[in-house]
Formats: sequence, C-alpha cells, structure tokens
Amino acid sequence: MLKLTDVVVRYPKVAEPALDRLSLSFERGEFVCVLGKSGAGKSTFVRTINRLQPVSSGSIHFEGQELTTLSEAQMRAVRQEMVMIFQHFHLIPRMTAFQNTLTGLFGRRPALKNLLGLFSKEEKQRGRLALEQVGLERHGDRRVEALSGGQKQRVGIARALLQEPKLLLGDEPVASLDPVTSRHIFTLLRDIHQKKELLSIVNVHDVSLAKEFATRIIALKDGQLLFDGKPEELDEAT
Ligand code: ADP
Ligand code: ADP
Repeated sequence: MLKLTDVVVRYPKVAEPALDRLSLSFERGEFVCVLGKSGAGKSTFVRTINRLQPVSSGSIHFEGQELTTLSEAQMRAVRQEMVMIFQHFHLIPRMTAFQNTLTGLFGRRPALKNLLGLFSKEEKQRGRLALEQVGLERHGDRRVEALSGGQKQRVGIARALLQEPKLLLGDEPVASLDPVTSRHIFTLLRDIHQKKELLSIVNVHDVSLAKEFATRIIALKDGQLLFDGKPEELDEAT
C-alpha cells in the first residue's frame, strides 16, 4: 500500500540528512509506531509521507501512485486519503468542536460556509457521527478552547475521520497529554484503525505505548532505520 525506496531528506544548510536512505513497505491493517529520540527523524518521516516535507531523493509509492512526481493539485487529491493528527491539534480557534470537525470535509481554511454554518443535512449528519465515534457527541457546541487536551485531540481525530482516510499519520499526537489520556487516545485510534482497516503510522516517544498498541515498531536514529519488527522483538534488539 505504501512503499518508500531509498528516501533521503535534507534540510537546507544542514550537513547530515534528516532521513538517510530509508526503504520500507507498509500494508493495510498495520498499526505502526515510530520510536526514536528527539531529532531522530520521526517527524520528518511522517511529514515526508504526505509530502508536507519534500524528498531530496528516492521514491514514495502510495496506492499505485508515485508521490514524488505528482503536482500539488494531484497531491491534494491523494491527501484526501491520508490524514494527519498533530501534537498541538491544529484546531481553528473560536470555532466549536462541531465546526472544527466539519473542516475535515473541505480542508483547513475556515471557509465562509463553515463560519455561517451552511452545511447540508448529510454533512451535518456525518459531522455528528464523527463526534460520536470519538465520544464527544455532547460537546459539539463547545468552543475548542474550552476543551481539555484529550478532548481537543478527539476533535482532531473526528476531523480526520470525515475524510474517510486509508492512511492515518500521527506526529506525536499524545506528546502533550498526560499518560492516562494518552492511553485513551491510543485506544480510540486502535478502535478506529481496526474498524476502518487503515494503515496507521504514528510517532510516539513513549516506548510502553508503542509496545501496547503497535503491530509493528520502527525505530529511527540519525535518520536511519535502527529497528523494524514486532513489539515483542524490541526487547531482544535493545
Ligand atoms: P524527531 O521528530 O525524531 O524529533 P525531526 O524529524 O524533527 O526528528 O528532526 C530530524 C533532524 O532534522 C534533526 O536533526 C532536526 O534538527 C532536523 N530538522 C528538523 N526540522 C528541520 C528544519 N525545518 N530545518 C532544519 N533542520 C531540521
Ligand atoms: P507545531 O504545532 O509545534 O508546529 P506540529 O507537529 O503540530 O508542530 O505541526 C507541524 C507543522 O505542520 C506545523 O509547522 C504546521 O505549520 C504544519 N501543519 C499543521 N497542520 C497542517 C495541515 N492541515 N496541512 C498542512 N500543514 C499543516
């Protein structure tokens, strides 16, 4: 479903590559956690997959398309199938949980349609369903500022769900949450992952979360692959 071949990513004016000849294949149904110390390349890795970060060389195949050669317009269509959830949620302030969720239907810009609440019945129904799936059905009318960190991330997940993704990317989605809330969020992600048969690739710095939830763990060090295997193999490798 997703295949990276010899992917190199360099940042301007930085001598060492942030990703150094990474080759990896992923199949639908895998719940992959990416481990590594700060600076290892985790964030660059997930951002490279959806092309928020351009590659310096190498190729990325996703569902039969070579992403590195697509135009931005073509890439926008592909991004309908790959969603990202972020450490700092990237919600739109002063809008409600429901309005933020509905931005999943048309991108991040707070379109007039959203501000005025001009959604079709069907769109509203989908928004309500997504909020229900993340357990926020009673909080839809609250502004996102008034929500807890865990609730904010649930809105981020609801917004992602509206896109009907095949690939779910997470860039440290629980790094700013306490351990109990983090487990709740991972439990929710796993449920959605299984129900929708996604490929999920999620950065996390907490090894125990990765061991509990991942079907496959990847560890990066200095942009190189240090480990790729089942969670239970990680102990033998370290
Ligand atoms: P992680 O997510 O594991 O902390 P990153 O992908 O953020 O790692 O960073 C990998 C390497 O790339 C680090 O050495 C980091 O300093 C460098 N890096 C990340 N973003 C930039 C940037 N915008 N400009 C220059 N260097 C960067
Ligand atoms: P931070 O909030 O510290 O910048 P994140 O990991 O949450 O870190 O976000 C990483 C980057 O991705 C940000 O610099 C932001 O500009 C960018 N970004 C966030 N949301 C989107 C989006 N929906 N589409 C494109 N880029 C985004």
